[in-house]
Amino acid sequence: MMSERDLSEFWCWHEDCPDYGKKGAGNIVLKEFYGKNNAALLKCRTCGHCFSETRGTPFFGLTTLLNLTIRNSLARFVRKTMNCSKILKRHTHAFNFFQAWYNFVKPHKSLRLEVNQGIKRWGQRTPAMAEGLTDHIWTLKELMTFRVPVQ
Ligand SMILES: [Zn+2]
Repeated sequence: MMSERDLSEFWCWHEDCPDYGKKGAGNIVLKEFYGKNNAALLKCRTCGHCFSETRGTPFFGLTTLLNLTIRNSLARFVRKTMNCSKILKRHTHAFNFFQAWYNFVKPHKSLRLEVNQGIKRWGQRTPAMAEGLTDHIWTLKELMTFRVPVQ
């Protein structure tokens, strides 16, 4: 997935580790490559736990989860039903809308950030927030009424 990895950009995801969440602590090493996308399996030398380089990114668990999410979210992708696309243009529009919803409206558990404000421990994030495109979770109304700027 990534050809050159700057290991100082990664941190340990194991909450009980003394180096948990510390970037550039020198504890992260490359263990091996795995899967279809040749993703790197990284290892924390402090606690010995392993995690994927895609952990915490929109790519984490993508190959299996995205297909499932699409089939569960879009009626026209559900198997063995009467809901199917009859017109390609509408099918494309529906899928484009799903993509916008998936990236701007739906908070992803793998992207959440730890916050320590009172009782709430996790701050929800969308892929668009993780990419720095927006600073908040959009509402459906916000998405539907957004005017795309002319370039
Ligand atoms: Zn660790």
